[in-house]
Amino acid sequence: MGALRHRIMEYIRKAQESGILPERVILSKETFKKLLEDEMIRKQMERGNHPATAITNALGLPFEIGEKDEVVGKGFVPERCPHCSRAIFNPRVRLNDIVRIVRYLERFGKQQMICTCGKIFVLDVEEKRLEIDMRGVSTLTKCPQCGGPIKFLTSTEAFCLRCGWDNLKPLDAKKLKEKRFI
Ligand SMILES: [Zn+2]
Ligand SMILES: [Zn+2]
Repeated sequence: MGALRHRIMEYIRKAQESGILPERVILSKETFKKLLEDEMIRKQMERGNHPATAITNALGLPFEIGEKDEVVGKGFVPERCPHCSRAIFNPRVRLNDIVRIVRYLERFGKQQMICTCGKIFVLDVEEKRLEIDMRGVSTLTKCPQCGGPIKFLTSTEAFCLRCGWDNLKPLDAKKLKEKRFI
């Protein structure tokens, strides 16, 4: 996975963690063009897929071209119980359950909820957006040491498949060695 696609996937995850159920991605023209260079997306296009299909498959979400890079989805209003401030979109709640609640509210409108604290409040959904910060995404395409092929683990970290060069944060390097990726 290229650094750019890593960054978009990182923000899809980040959106989820911040209480947004991601539904689509907005890509700037510039990002769209760069994304077509992504290895997996290029392979899909070589197999005859339309660029739009290739990108949708790679991101796991539909996308649109827009002014800026964003993850768009649905979030709860309020985000927390007004009585005990428990987060409604708790990362520990299964995503399927969140999807079910969001769809229900979209279909039938806002509903009275009973929180685990025993108090009642009204829950609704609204569209939420998280802008993707593209600053600092790695622009490396090959190993700076030997010129060999590299593999990205995040939008900033990569390692060389040939000479063992890497710019991994120490913790990640340790994790990888444990998993015997290198
Ligand atoms: Zn509560
Ligand atoms: Zn190398």
